[in-house]
Amino acid sequence: MPLSSPPDRSVEIAANLAHIRRRIADAAERAGRPAGAVTLVAVSKTVPAAAVLAAIAAGQMHFGENRVQEASEKFPALRDAGATLQLHLVGGLQTNKARDAVRIAEVIESLDRPRLADAIANAIERAGRAPALLVQVNVGDEPQKSGVPRPEADAFIEACMERFGASLRGLMCVPPEGADPAPHFRWLAERGRRHGLPVLSMGMSADFETAIACGATHVRVGSAIFGRRP
Ligand SMILES: *Cc1c(COP(=O)(O)O)cnc(C)c1O
Repeated sequence: MPLSSPPDRSVEIAANLAHIRRRIADAAERAGRPAGAVTLVAVSKTVPAAAVLAAIAAGQMHFGENRVQEASEKFPALRDAGATLQLHLVGGLQTNKARDAVRIAEVIESLDRPRLADAIANAIERAGRAPALLVQVNVGDEPQKSGVPRPEADAFIEACMERFGASLRGLMCVPPEGADPAPHFRWLAERGRRHGLPVLSMGMSADFETAIACGATHVRVGSAIFGRRP
């Protein structure tokens, strides 16, 4: 192999995926939850398409991207390769990206403000296609983070349920770094129950087992599968 060719990381990615799936199953079992209660979303932001293909070959179906532009560049070709993919948009979403987001995603996890809800509703009407939607809550009330602030969460969730009906599936959060995430996960789970929403997207590479113990139905794992991002 010439020194200049990129290393083939498929074996490593398949092994990482198998390991994460095992840990997810173990965490679900410890929590007394059925196998298959938790969906793994492989967060592939900044990851080259070849590495995403390796994950697909290893049976991975749900992927997460945080930028609409990058997702639009990577995913159509991957779908053409024949895979049934579920693309989740997990990053803060600009209103002017709502049309593209609705066109390309199966799940938008970052619905967090009325103007974005307006833009998504318009885009759904134009596209004739409605992705599943999650309301992102800023559980740590951090000024720099996306997500509806906690004091406004109930009213916003109710407005979105009314507006989007069954497309509004659940809640998502990214707890503050460096703090115990469990109270934040439990807070989100309680809100999900309160509103009768089935999906809870919470937990990343560092804390997905804690999230599963708190009721996560979807965990978003990037670096533990694909390696550290540049
Ligand atoms: C990057 C990202 C992840 C994955 O983070 P890792 O620590 O690499 O697992 C999950 N959720 C969101 C919203 C992200 O932006």
